[in-house]
Amino acid sequence: MAISKKTRLAVYEKYSGHCAYCGREIAYEDMQVDHFKPQRAWNPEDCGTDDIENLMPSCRMCNHYKRAHSLEVFRQYIASIPDKLRGNYIYKVGIVYGNVLENPKEVTFYFEKAREKEC
Ligand SMILES: [Zn+2]
Repeated sequence: MAISKKTRLAVYEKYSGHCAYCGREIAYEDMQVDHFKPQRAWNPEDCGTDDIENLMPSCRMCNHYKRAHSLEVFRQYIASIPDKLRGNYIYKVGIVYGNVLENPKEVTFYFEKAREKEC
């Protein structure tokens, strides 16, 4: 179902023009509306809706990478990026020369940090 302009604007304002996941500022026209809980799931009870509570402002990159996955699967995907890159020869050269630095850390999404500030 198409999302109304009013809802789209409300989604954009949820995090003051930031992507809910990576936290980068996004222009309104570049924002993609992500379904926090995917619209389709194996278990019908896991399906998300078009309610504003289930809609998140997202940059194209995060929305594309999250696809129709749950937040925790998306978090695992982000956390495993260095593992995926270690097979790349150029990445290995960058590590050896020190111009590629790994920074292992827990993945915390922007909206989670924003919610912590509210508490
Ligand atoms: Zn993003």
